[in-house]
Amino acid sequence: MASSFVDKVTITVTAGKGGNGAVAFHREKYVAAGGPDGGDGGKGGDVVFRVDDNMSTLMDFRYKRKYVAANGADGQGKRCAGRGGETLIVRVPRGTVIRDKESGAVMHDMSDGKDWVVAKGGRGGWGNKHFATPTRQVPRFAKPGLPGESREVILELKLLADVGLVGFPNVGKSTLLSVVTNAHPKIANYHFTTLYPNLGVVYVTEGVSFVMADIPGIIEGASGGAGLGHDFLRHIDRCRLLLHIVDVSGSEGRDPVEDFDAINEELRQYSDFLADRPQIVVANKCDLLGDDRENLDRLRAHVEALGYEFYEMSAAAHQGTQELMRVTAGKLANLPPVITFEPDYVPPAPDAVGAEDVIIHQFGDVWTVDGAWIDRLVETVNFSDYESRIYFDRMMREAHIFERMEEMGVKDGDTVCLGDLEFEYQH
Ligand code: GDP
Ligand code: MG
Repeated sequence: MASSFVDKVTITVTAGKGGNGAVAFHREKYVAAGGPDGGDGGKGGDVVFRVDDNMSTLMDFRYKRKYVAANGADGQGKRCAGRGGETLIVRVPRGTVIRDKESGAVMHDMSDGKDWVVAKGGRGGWGNKHFATPTRQVPRFAKPGLPGESREVILELKLLADVGLVGFPNVGKSTLLSVVTNAHPKIANYHFTTLYPNLGVVYVTEGVSFVMADIPGIIEGASGGAGLGHDFLRHIDRCRLLLHIVDVSGSEGRDPVEDFDAINEELRQYSDFLADRPQIVVANKCDLLGDDRENLDRLRAHVEALGYEFYEMSAAAHQGTQELMRVTAGKLANLPPVITFEPDYVPPAPDAVGAEDVIIHQFGDVWTVDGAWIDRLVETVNFSDYESRIYFDRMMREAHIFERMEEMGVKDGDTVCLGDLEFEYQH
C-alpha cells in the first residue's frame, strides 16, 4: 500500500576533508630566503543532526540521500592557516533514532533536542613550518589533509508519546483521539483509514496532561511484515502505557476475545519489550450492545483473569471517555518516563579494516603517514613501553603499511612522520 508518510530512510553522510598544509618559505625584500612558514590546512566541516520541531516526518530525505559537508581550505604562506569547512546541519524531527547501517546498532536518539555530530571533519594537514629541525632547515613538504568520516546511517522516526493506542482497524482509536484531544485524525468506516500516525495532547486537569498517539490499525500477521502496521509499531516503542481498544459490538462479525489475543500476539512478535508494556483494556462501541452483554462480559472475564484493568466506553457517544483519561493520567503518574534508546554502537577496533585508507606521501627522505586508522592505533600505543612498540610494529606490518612504503622505495634511516610522531625507518 502506497503511503507518503516516510518514517524510515537510509542516507549517507560525509564530513569535509581537511585542507592540505602549505609548503612556503619566508620572503622579505633584501633578505635571503627565510625559514619555512607554510600554514596548516583547515579542518573539514562536520555533519551535525539538529532537531526541528516543525518536522513530523522524514519525507525531506526521500529524494535527497547524500549529505556532504564542506572541505577545509589549504594552508597558505606567512603561517596562514586554511579556513575550516562549514558544518553541515541536517534537520530531523524530534524522536529520530539514528542507527549505523552496517551493524544496525543505535548511534544516537534525537529526543533531547541537542545537536549531535554524526561525521567528524578530517584534520587539516600541518604546514611545513612544523617540520623545521636543526638538521632539516628547508622542509619541502607538508602534510595532506585527512578525509572526513563517511557512513551510511538509518534514520527511524519513533514518536514521543506517553500513551499508544492499539487495536484492530475500525475499533474506534481515531474516534477516541478526536474526542479527548485537539487532534483531527481521519475517521471512516473502512479499514486502513489511518496512514499517518496522529498525536494529540490530552488535558486532564490543570497542570496534568499527556501525549497520546494513534497509529494505523494492526492487521494479523503484520508483525511478520505481512502488511501495514508492523512498520508503524515503532511509533509506540517509546510509549509508557498502551490503551488496547476492542470493539465489543460484534458489528464487524468478529469475536472480541480472539481480537484481543491476536493483537497481543502481534505485539509479542514485534518485541517482548512492547508486549510487556503496561496496558489498559478498553471495550468500545458499548452503545451498540443493547441487552446482549455476552461479548462484553466474556472479554471482561478474559482480560481480568490475565490481570489487566478493564474499562467500558463509547467513543462516538463520548461515554466513559473522560473517566478513561483520568484513569490513564493516574496510571502514568506512577510509570517511568518516555523511553529513550541508549546507544549500543561500538566503533570498529584498530585491527579491523580501514587501514587501506591510510595515506602515504613521500618527500625525498621524509615520509608522512596519515589516516583515521593510524590515529586510532597511535591512541592505543605507549611508545615508551617495549611490548607496546612491538604491538605497534606488528599492526603496521599486518596492515601492510610498511610493505606499501617499501614498494614506494623507503630506505633505512628515512624519517617517518606519523600522527604527531617522528621516527627513523628501520627495516
Ligand atoms: P480506528 O480505525 O480504530 O481508528 O477506528 P475509527 O475511529 O476510524 O472508527 C471506525 C468506525 O467506527 C467509524 O465509523 C466510527 O464512527 C465508528 N465508531 C467509533 N467509535 C464508536 C462508538 O463508540 N460507537 C459506535 N457506534 N461507532 C463508533
Ligand atoms: Mg484510525
